[in-house]
Amino acid sequence: MRTRFAPSPTGPLHLGHAFSALLAYDMAQKAGGEFHLRIEDIDQSRARAEWEAQIYDDLAWLGLTWPTPVMRQSDRMSVYKDALGLLDSKGLLYRCTCNRRDIEAAISAPQEGVKPVFGPDGMIYPGTCRNAAHTDDAAALRLDMAKACDLLADHFPLGFGDNGQHSITASELINNVGDIVLARRDMGTSYHLSVVLDDATQNVTDVVRGQDLFEATKIHVLLQHLLDLPTPRYHHHRLIRDQAGKRLAKRDDARAIAKYRADGATPADIREMVGL
Ligand code: GLU
Repeated sequence: MRTRFAPSPTGPLHLGHAFSALLAYDMAQKAGGEFHLRIEDIDQSRARAEWEAQIYDDLAWLGLTWPTPVMRQSDRMSVYKDALGLLDSKGLLYRCTCNRRDIEAAISAPQEGVKPVFGPDGMIYPGTCRNAAHTDDAAALRLDMAKACDLLADHFPLGFGDNGQHSITASELINNVGDIVLARRDMGTSYHLSVVLDDATQNVTDVVRGQDLFEATKIHVLLQHLLDLPTPRYHHHRLIRDQAGKRLAKRDDARAIAKYRADGATPADIREMVGL
């Protein structure tokens, strides 16, 4: 068994991260397996060396250990590029020059006031650039979901879960997910593409992540089928919420592990706070 924790160094780790990391660590320990760490720093405009250093410090303080060197996504751009080349060679990608406003406008026309429909990756793309044949190198790359599902017609429904108990249909992907961006214009990759390739390279057998990523997991399973990669077991855990019931976010500095540490909490206190 191999589990992983894959934080982005864009802010302090908070209680929700501690919960996820501890669950993944404990699961590997219990099975005599390995726990790995990965730094998800494809968004170079937001990633900071200080946050990365704080991640190592907080996790070590919590009592976690992991093999080094730690995988960093910023070192793997060529791997992402090759995978995009493979998908492109299958005719599954197209260039998109739409910004958020263009998408909103396309969705709300012709009827004024129609609310955009949201999928796991934001607004479901209305397909404006699908047949535009843009050649602009600075464009984003989108996955043609209908074509992707067509190619995998024999594989549906796609199963996943910790015991293969969930399944994904083609129509769900086409209607509720749509043509997602696989390479952002400013990054050359995306969270979805990178996470799938990295989990495969790191031979992760068990992905432990929050319930908030359940819908995103469906995209990951689809990409695994398209790229001929194994699907790990997925364990989606409950979310840690504040007193008002709101899910903790990176900007909730009040819940930062570093803050609790500074206030004299022990690692055992943190475990107790998240119900472990
Ligand atoms: N970097 C992602 C996060 O911090 C990784 C989560 C995942 O893929 O499981 O939410």
